[in-house]
Amino acid sequence: MTNAPPPPSSAAQSARTILTRLHEVMASRANAQGKLNQVVGIIGECLDSEVCSIYLLRDGALELYATRGLKQEAVHVTRLGLGEGLVGMIADQIETLNLDEAAAHPDFSYRPETGEELFHSFAGVPIIRRERAVGVLCVQHADPRRYADIEIETLQTVAMVLSELITNADLVDTAARTDAAAADQSAQRLNGQKLVDGMGAGVAVFHQPRITIEHTVAEDTEAERHRVYAAFDKMREQIDRMASQADFGVGGEHDEVIQTYKMFAYDEGWSRRINEAIDSGLTAEAAIERVQQRTRMRMRQIDDALLRDRMHDLEDLSNRLIRIVSGQMGTAAQMGLRQDSILIARNLGPAELLEYDRRRLKGVVLEEGSLTAHVIIVARAMGVPVIGRVSDVRASIREGDLLLLDAAAGALHVRPTQAVQDAFDAKLVISQKRRANLASLRDLPAITKDGVPIELMINAGLREDVAALDLTGACGIGLFRTEFQFLVSATLPSRDRQQRLYRDVLDAAGDRPVIFRTVDIGGDKALPYMNVEGSALEENPAMGWRALRLALEREGLLKVQARALMEAAAGRTLNVMFPMVSEPWEYEAARNLFVGQRAWLAQHNKKLPVAIRYGAMLEVPGLLETLDLMLPHLDFLSVGTNDLTQFLFAADRAHPRLAERYDWLSPIVMRYLARVVRTVVGSKVALGVCGEMGGRPLEAMALLGVGIERLSITPAGVGPVKAMIRSLDLAALRADMPKILAQPSSNPRGQYQAWAEAHRVDLGD
Ligand code: PEP
Ligand code: MG
Repeated sequence: MTNAPPPPSSAAQSARTILTRLHEVMASRANAQGKLNQVVGIIGECLDSEVCSIYLLRDGALELYATRGLKQEAVHVTRLGLGEGLVGMIADQIETLNLDEAAAHPDFSYRPETGEELFHSFAGVPIIRRERAVGVLCVQHADPRRYADIEIETLQTVAMVLSELITNADLVDTAARTDAAAADQSAQRLNGQKLVDGMGAGVAVFHQPRITIEHTVAEDTEAERHRVYAAFDKMREQIDRMASQADFGVGGEHDEVIQTYKMFAYDEGWSRRINEAIDSGLTAEAAIERVQQRTRMRMRQIDDALLRDRMHDLEDLSNRLIRIVSGQMGTAAQMGLRQDSILIARNLGPAELLEYDRRRLKGVVLEEGSLTAHVIIVARAMGVPVIGRVSDVRASIREGDLLLLDAAAGALHVRPTQAVQDAFDAKLVISQKRRANLASLRDLPAITKDGVPIELMINAGLREDVAALDLTGACGIGLFRTEFQFLVSATLPSRDRQQRLYRDVLDAAGDRPVIFRTVDIGGDKALPYMNVEGSALEENPAMGWRALRLALEREGLLKVQARALMEAAAGRTLNVMFPMVSEPWEYEAARNLFVGQRAWLAQHNKKLPVAIRYGAMLEVPGLLETLDLMLPHLDFLSVGTNDLTQFLFAADRAHPRLAERYDWLSPIVMRYLARVVRTVVGSKVALGVCGEMGGRPLEAMALLGVGIERLSITPAGVGPVKAMIRSLDLAALRADMPKILAQPSSNPRGQYQAWAEAHRVDLGD
């Protein structure tokens, strides 16, 4: 926004004239009806319209409250349902109508008591409060002419001021307002996608509380203009800072979003429109909201999903600007949750979620969100149920509404009826009992019924994930996916940034071990900022130039990571693991690179880790054939069952049609793993499994059965898997395992389930 505003447009001037007069009415001592009567008189006169009428929502219908030009007998008599007639349609669709011949419109509904047959042209705009129509302002004229854009603009600005007037207790009686609100209070069920399982009940809390604009008409236009200048400066500063720090964990904002934000933040058209709205006499907040309303109306007409998404970004930015200008900057977390709450947000960053008081946060509802989003990993660790992809959530819910979240059913009950509440409570009691039982296991050892200790660790990839260690009582991080930082960064993370992350993670883990896996990028995890010739052309990215294959050829990348890891782990033990090792020489080359970097650091008198333990992932099946050759050089081996099974079955792990086709409990997987155990047993190498398979109680039981005693799993799996472990007679299972593997049934899952049932193993549901 430049400092010299252009002269006000004629639209702005005409709105300003009306606003000045409305301001006087607002301040007058007339009663509610008297004020409305004056308002329609002023608008009709200023817009040179024979008719001006105000309809307000009452008892779920739009009632004619005041008119200039229609028959006065119709006031408080003419009523139109939402969606009925032109007025009902404007309120229902929240849209503007401008017609030269009202009666020709298919939705026109003639009301003889009004005498409106004399008038041809019609223009109406919704009166909006908190994104909903609470009334309609319309003008009519005997000439069949469409109203000019300037006039429509003026009407929209005036409607905004009217919304302040009509919700003001001086103007509309309380009963009418309560009735209007009551019309939207019906019970509702919204559907979404389960992202984190669980149930929760609480009142609706918006992550970014909706700001209610209290004053719409400016006392001093120049002062308002300066408030907006300052807010723009501050917002641009924030966005620039966000872009330069684009690190993971910073609110989860990705590069693309930030770039779009930047584009809008510096968009001269946007700031000019706000400036014009200020010219028309609005306060800074109202001017921003006015422009936002206009954008929202346009958005409804846009069919292009991509463009709508962009508009969403603009809406976000607009909210940010209003919060800055009004000084109401905090999120709901900063204000603190006062009672059991369900959090509503468009999207959240993991750090933002962690700011909430876990005792009172009973669930999260996102308009966006996906299973693999980082915030979901954190929510899972916190044990907070989440559903995502709930559209229009802000339009259907008000702050403080009672909400019941049933993530398993993908359902959010809004303002539930008693019957829904009773059914929910009954279901909740059962699920709470189960969760309480699991939480009580947190400090108990993961030890089988017959006394075999199992190392139960968690998988992580974000700084925030480390919190899951304390939450679950896991004994370490068995897989830290370092590529997460690379994937969510706008540029290749510098050594400093990597080092900071690794040190933070080690600090938070304390004396519990953390196994850092070197970057598993490339293939389908391509980094947009890393120019890799030909990689986009790979037909089978999962089997392509990825992970260690890439890292060994881009040595600089691995060297930087090696140094970052070693410096972060100075004075402690560093556990480092290489992904996708296919042949032993790859492991040797990577290890040698680390050894070389260690020597370099020593030469430069840097503080070093007290010990470095090296490990490999077994996820390429062929590696087993030469594993014996690698064992003498390994400290630990971790089986990545996600990749391993996709290669064993030659079935893409991300292919939805193949997701259910092959079972982890198939004898193909179990016999293979038994062979891995036989190969490793007797060596000093610690063997574990870190794929998703280990996070499921039945699969984890089978893994223990073939001899695995270290599992690194998703944090949410720790409770259920520990419950299984503590109820398992491992000796009995191992005694039966050879037979199960030798004579597998055609339904291996059923076979393990039957064994678990017969031996009273706790598998949860
Ligand atoms: C695996 O492949 O099993 C594994 C743990 O690694 P990722 O899921 O990151 O490929
Ligand atoms: Mg893998």
